[in-house]
This record gives sequence, structure tokens and C-alpha cells, in this order.
Amino acid sequence: MTHELQDITILGAGPAGLFALFYAGMRGAKAQVIDALGEPGGQLTALYPEKYIFDVAGFPKVLAKDLVKALVEQAAQFKAPIHCSQRVVALEEADGHFVLVTETDRFPTRSVVIAAGIGAFAPRRLPQACAAPWYERGIYDRVSSPEAFAGKHVVIIGGGDSAFDWAHQLRDRAASVALVHRSDRFRAHAATVAEVDAAVAAGRTSIHTFHELHDIVAEGDRIVALELKDIKAKTTKRIPADVVLPMLGFVSDIGPLASWGLQLEKDEIAVNSQMETGRAGVYAAGDITTYPGKLKLIATGFAEATTAVNQAFHWVYPEKKVNPGHSSNLAVFGQKDD
Ligand SMILES: Cc1cc2nc3c(=O)[nH]c(=O)nc-3n(C[C@H](O)[C@H](O)[C@H](O)COP(=O)(O)OP(=O)(O)OC[C@H]3O[C@@H](n4cnc5c(N)ncnc54)[C@H](O)[C@@H]3O)c2cc1C
Repeated sequence: MTHELQDITILGAGPAGLFALFYAGMRGAKAQVIDALGEPGGQLTALYPEKYIFDVAGFPKVLAKDLVKALVEQAAQFKAPIHCSQRVVALEEADGHFVLVTETDRFPTRSVVIAAGIGAFAPRRLPQACAAPWYERGIYDRVSSPEAFAGKHVVIIGGGDSAFDWAHQLRDRAASVALVHRSDRFRAHAATVAEVDAAVAAGRTSIHTFHELHDIVAEGDRIVALELKDIKAKTTKRIPADVVLPMLGFVSDIGPLASWGLQLEKDEIAVNSQMETGRAGVYAAGDITTYPGKLKLIATGFAEATTAVNQAFHWVYPEKKVNPGHSSNLAVFGQKDD
């Protein structure tokens, strides 16, 4: 299907893209956001919905999923559409405007703000063939509701921050938590490792270093145990398991962006201080951008989103100022200039 022509289309509904959507609405632009994932929020929704974030201005701490909820609510004031499950595969030009093309739809737009983060990304899957049939039936690569694991034997595979964070967070809910890792070197915060070590000492958690998944033991349509292989001794052992959480990082792919005539540095878009990408009418914000001193943080993405949107708005309507003025004075919020 072909959608209505918009002034600004934002590629990516992570925090930068969602804030850009709000900002475009505040400027009076017709805007929309498109995302490959099934729901908005980018990395916050896909990778760490239950983690607290401590460095977003104005929030002493905020759960990632709650920040996404607030961003969606803020953008919803202007009733701009959020198109999920739409992976952008091409950027075309037709009739004097751009068209963002997905596998099923076409999104005509006068300007583009790319807020594609680390690209369309997916959790890295367990390489063992025995795991494939159990995804979403006992093996889950993201935790949307920790309560669902209450009273279960949970096995977490991995040695990074996510693995340790979930081992720590699930230790009091689950019947047992086992952490399985191929080495004895962990890529997690020392404080979280220490907390998990304390849970091990208390008998609520176990850590199986130099082990990997060997086989899945099932009864009917549910997992009941895992066979683990000691990669040094080549022996196997069995541990109880109702739920397996592979926390192996993720693979990302900027895919089609590479052929869009943008200034790329590795997998990032080199932008100037106007968030221009090297292609007129196409701007960028958030983790996808690079420039000297770039910090990949939510706070940085918010600021870049305001610049990108204000520049895009001015590109579409050259008679309008780049500077939006202060929101506290804007008529769109029922305020008056003083
Ligand atoms: C575990 C973890 C903890 C973190 N903690 C913090 C923290 O405490 N503080 C902090 O400031 N930052 C933190 N970060 C970093 C922060 O999450 C990122 O800086 C932020 O998500 C970047 O936002 P973004 O909108 O630029 O991109 P993303 O959040 O990556 O969103 C980009 C979106 O673009 C979509 N997309 C990409 N390509 C396409 C395509 N071709 N078609 C359609 N959609 C596409 C993706 O699906 C994704 O939804 C953390 C990151 C991780 C992984």
C-alpha cells in the first residue's frame, strides 16, 4: 500500500526517533515513524525493557520500558502514525520527493530523518541445532515479563551484562537460576557479578563456566532439563530447566542504508552540526550518527533529534525558521509568547 505524503518521515522508533516524532508534531509538520520491530522503543524495548536508566535528564531513574511509554505518549499528542513491523529496504525519489520502501508498503515523504540506531537488529541465536525448534516455546531471547518465570528453573546462557543482570533480577522469583558460559571471563559490571556470586554462595544460583548447551531434554511439548557439555573435560551433565534465556548479544545490520548516497564511516552516518548526511533532505540522529566527540547515549540522541527535525522542517518549508522558539511559549500547547 502507498501511504499519504508526509513532510518528515523518521526511520527508526528508538528513543531518538520517538522524540523526533514528537518534535516534528510540535513544529506543525506532518510526520510518521517507521520501524522494523513489532513495537516502538528500539534497544530499550528489544534489549533491556526491565533495566533502570539513570542518566536521562529529569528522571532520577526510569525503567527503559517506562521511558518508551512516556515517549510514545508525548509523541501521541500530535496523532502522528507509528508504523511497526515495517523494515525499510530502499530509499527512492519520485515526483520531487522521497519514498521509503518497505517489503509491503511505500511511504512518500518530503524529507527523511534516519534514527536507525545500530541498524535493524536481532538477538544472536544459539548455534546448536537442537535449540531452533524451542524458540518461543521455552527458549526466549528477550524477557518482556519477569513474572512469567516465577517458580521456574531458569537457565541463562552468556557471560555479559544482560546475562548477569537477569541472573540477578530473577534469583528471587525463579525456583533456580543457572548461568552457563563458555569461559570463566565475564563481560559484566563487577558489582553485578559480585551480587550473582553472593547468590551462588547462598545456594540460589549456580554458575557453570566452560560449559555450553549440548542437548535439550523435553517431556512432550515442554523443556525439562538441559544437557551441558564441559568444553574442556568433554563430559556432560544434566541440569533442570523450564526456561532457557540465551543472552548472547545481538547482530545488527544497517543493510540498505549503505547504498543511499550518505557519508558513511563503517556502519555509521557521518553528520555535520546540522545533522546533514551528505544527501540533501536526509538528516540523521541517535546512535547511527558519528562525528568527533560523539557519545552514544539517549540524552545525545534527544538533542540530535531536535536539530535534525528543525533542519528537515526548514528544508521542507524554507520560509520557516530553523529555531522553533521555546515550547513554553508555543501556541500549539495553548501558550502565548511573553
Ligand atoms: C543493555 C543496554 C543498556 C543501555 N543503557 C543506557 C543508559 O543507561 N543510558 C543511555 O543513555 N544509553 C543506554 N544504552 C544505549 C541506548 O539504548 C542507545 O543509545 C539508544 O537506544 C539509541 O537510540 P536510537 O533511537 O538512536 O536507536 P535504537 O534504540 O537502536 O533504535 C533504532 C531503531 O531503528 C530501527 N531500524 C533500524 N534499521 C531499520 C530499517 N532498515 N527499517 C526499519 N527500522 C529500522 C530498529 O528496529 C530500532 O527500533 C544502553 C544500551 C544497551 C544495549
